[in-house]
Amino acid sequence: MQFDRIYIISLGCPKNLVESEYIGGILSSKGHEITDNLEESDIAIINTCAFIQDAVRESIDVILNVARLKEEGNIKKIVVIGCLVQRYGYKLKREIPEVDIWAGTGKFHQILDILNNGISFYISKPEYIQKESFPRIQGTPFYTSYLRIADGCSHRCSFCLIPKLRGPLRSVPPEILIREAEWLAKKGVKEINLVAQDITSYGNDLKEDINLELLIESLLRIREISWIRLLYLHPSGISERLLKLIENEERICPYLDIPIQHINDDILNKMCRGYNKKFIMGLIDKIKGLRRKIYLRSTLIIGFPGESEEIFNELCDFVRQVEFDHLGVFMFSPEEGTRARRYKDQIKKEVVKERYDIVMSIQAKISERKNREMIGKKIPVLIEGFHPETNLLLVGRSFGMAPEIDGQVIINKGYGNMGEIRDVLITDAYTYDLIGEIL
Ligand code: SF4
Repeated sequence: MQFDRIYIISLGCPKNLVESEYIGGILSSKGHEITDNLEESDIAIINTCAFIQDAVRESIDVILNVARLKEEGNIKKIVVIGCLVQRYGYKLKREIPEVDIWAGTGKFHQILDILNNGISFYISKPEYIQKESFPRIQGTPFYTSYLRIADGCSHRCSFCLIPKLRGPLRSVPPEILIREAEWLAKKGVKEINLVAQDITSYGNDLKEDINLELLIESLLRIREISWIRLLYLHPSGISERLLKLIENEERICPYLDIPIQHINDDILNKMCRGYNKKFIMGLIDKIKGLRRKIYLRSTLIIGFPGESEEIFNELCDFVRQVEFDHLGVFMFSPEEGTRARRYKDQIKKEVVKERYDIVMSIQAKISERKNREMIGKKIPVLIEGFHPETNLLLVGRSFGMAPEIDGQVIINKGYGNMGEIRDVLITDAYTYDLIGEIL
């Protein structure tokens, strides 16, 4: 058997990254070398994203760049896998002939066959259910990792293509996840970030008696894990029991990432989110009433069809009132194949952009004020290493900051090793970052 040097490019979300890590693990366990040098690789594998047009464009740009390198250099084979292939199928094969193999979603576990079989197109309904453990090559720094607890989604939000691209909810059996978390902890992972399209649905499709709360309780038995962080929680799935668990368990980060998407009842109804404003306000009150301060992250879609000036103002008032710690704001993207694209009352692009800027500036002021309130407080910070611009500063994240998406703590006094959790005194604040010194 011939062993190849393989370069893997992972685009899109952390769920995709975990899949790319499995691909790397499966290939290296069979003797292939995973290289960090694209130009010297024999095979380039691109794991793509395609949930909105911006992601599609990015995926295509990356493929075209790698195709150029293939023509000029060593790369012998390009494999494109994931959501882009699932979304555009054979059309891509015709338009980008430099790519040798195309494979849709739910195929990562077949990567060896995909490379060896001589077939150039793999696409079918994404129905694969993970029932086994896979080796993994960590793509994140050694002290943090994502645990993908399920794939697919059985909600039917009118703006979202994910159920079409990734299929219905398929939870990974708990014993596989525990084994994987134990393995990660042994390798030095301190922070486990639970991810799925909606982690609160975990277990709904499994026969055994399991849910998110029970899974977290099992993960807490792994003592080497210092922080368990919960990402992507559909509001309707957040139970009293989950909130109690977060309130009582120091090692669960006091951080909830709850995509709310909008607050107006008519819009929520058209989005098919399955909740209304009253429900969300009640949930936020409950979270704010917990004994521990919970850092709240949410995402909003601006300019959904039918969002009048009045409705938009209601959304702005909501943002001002709730004061999220972190907020992701997205301009509505009318994706082909979604019901929301067919709604008649679409909002003009320039209006959507204007509204996006307004929400961003409201949130920037809130973030800055909240960050300034942190001055003088002592918080645990996971040290991530030197600042990218100078070795005179360190950077890290508090338990209220998720990797990649939130700000950082910049440390200008004291020393800590990468992967250590140290108490840091906050001495100054920017809009999204904090400044502090190690105590
Ligand atoms: S819950 Fe999230 S992933 Fe599932 S359909 Fe709705 S927006 Fe898409």
